[in-house]
Amino acid sequence: MIQKPKGTYDVYGKKSKQIKYIEKILNSLMEKYNYEYMRTPLFENSELFHRGVGETTDIVTKETYDFLDRGNRNMTLRPEGTAGICRSFVENKMYGTYTMPVKTWYYGPMYRYERPQSGRYREFYQFGCEVFGSDNASIDAELISIPVNIYKLLGLKGIKVNINSLGDRDSREKYREALIKHFEPHIHEFCEDCQERFKKNPLRILDCKIDCDKEIMKTAPTTIEYLNDTSKKHFDKVKESLEALDIDYVVNPKIVRGLDYYTHTVFEVEADIEKFGSQKVLCGGGRYNGLVEAIGGPKISGVGFALGLERLLNALEAEEIDLDENNGIDIYVAPMSEKEESYSLGLTQSLRLSGFNVEMDYMNRKLQNNFKQADKLNAKFIIILGEDEVNTNILTIKNNKTKEEFKVSTDDVIEFFDNNIEEEHHE
Ligand code: AMP
Repeated sequence: MIQKPKGTYDVYGKKSKQIKYIEKILNSLMEKYNYEYMRTPLFENSELFHRGVGETTDIVTKETYDFLDRGNRNMTLRPEGTAGICRSFVENKMYGTYTMPVKTWYYGPMYRYERPQSGRYREFYQFGCEVFGSDNASIDAELISIPVNIYKLLGLKGIKVNINSLGDRDSREKYREALIKHFEPHIHEFCEDCQERFKKNPLRILDCKIDCDKEIMKTAPTTIEYLNDTSKKHFDKVKESLEALDIDYVVNPKIVRGLDYYTHTVFEVEADIEKFGSQKVLCGGGRYNGLVEAIGGPKISGVGFALGLERLLNALEAEEIDLDENNGIDIYVAPMSEKEESYSLGLTQSLRLSGFNVEMDYMNRKLQNNFKQADKLNAKFIIILGEDEVNTNILTIKNNKTKEEFKVSTDDVIEFFDNNIEEEHHE
C-alpha cells in the first residue's frame, strides 16, 4: 500500500472537528481585530526566500523543498508565510492603495525538510499576521495579544510569553560587533555551521542547537545591553502596552529568533505545561523593519507572527481540553421507503438553504434504525415521511428529546423550526 510521505499527516475524525473549531475562532477573531485575509501561492521563486528569510537561516539553507519546474525555474515550497505576504504587498503596491497600517492575516500549509518528531512535521499549518507601515509599539503589543487571546479563547492555560528586543539597525550593528569580539577567540571550538554563521550573521550562533551548552555561549552579551535610546524607548512602550492589555510576559534575552530580518521586538509564546514535548514554542514573531525594502519595496516597516496549528493541538491535548462540542444536527429526515426519497431530498435541501443543519437517510433504513441513527447524530427533530405525508403535504415531525409529535403543513415548516430551534445554529 502507498503510504503518506514522511512528516505529513491526515486529518479526519476528532482532529478534523478540532481544527474546524479552531479555524472558526481564527476567522471571527480576525474580523474583530479588523485584519484582512490574504492568500499567496504555496510555491514561490526560490530567490524570494533567500532574500527574504535570509541566507544563514536553517530553514533556507537546509530545509527547503526546492525543485526545478518544467520551464527550468528554481521554485521553493514556502517554508514560512512572511516572505510571500511581503512579496505580495510590494508586487500589488498595497502600500500605495491602502491606508496605513495595513493589517493582514494568512493561514495555510508550510513545508520544511526537517527531522520529523512530535510537534515537528514536514508539512504543517501556520496561522499568522503581518502588519505594515506602523512603527508604533502598540501594534507590536496588539500582535502579541492575538495568539494570547486565541489560546485564552480555546481555554489553554499553560502559556508563557517571552519578549526581547534586538533594537534598530544601529543597535543591532553594535551588538554584532560585540558578539564577534566575544566569540572570535573560541570560534574554532564551535560546529561547522557556527563558523559559517560567525562570518555571515553571528547572531545566529545563539540559536545553535549543537553548541548551546558551551560556557562561552552562556556568557555572551545580550541585545538589551546594546539598545540605543530610540530602541530602548520602543521596547519600554511595548512593555507598557502589554501591561495595559493585561498580558503577563517575561523579558528573555535568549530570544533572538532564527530569521535574519528581525529588528526591535521579538517574541515567542511557549507552552508551559508539564510533560509537554521538546517542541515547546507555540508561536513566534517580531518586527522586521528592513524586510519590505530587502525584497524590492519601499522603506516600510513590518511586524508579525506565526502560530503553529499542530503544536496548539498538542497543547490542548496535554491540558485535556476537548474542542469536540457535539452540538448535533437540527433535523433528521427519514423516508419510510424508496418512494419518498425524492420528496425527502427536496425537503432536506430547502431546510438546509433556510439555515438548518439537516441530514437524511440514504441507506433505506427501517424506522427503528432511523431513530437510532437520529440519536447518534444528536438530532433535535425527526421528520418521518410516508405516503400520507407526501400526498397531503402535512409532515409528521417528532421532537427527538421530548418525543412529542407535531403535524405541520409544508407551507409552515420553516416557521415551525424557526420557532423551535435556537437561533445560534443557523447563521
Ligand atoms: P517559525 O516560522 O520557525 O518561527 O515557526 C513559527 C511556529 O510555527 C512555531 O512556533 C511552531 O508552532 C510552528 N512550526 C515551525 N516549524 C514547524 C514544524 N516543522 N512542524 C510543526 N510546526 C512548526
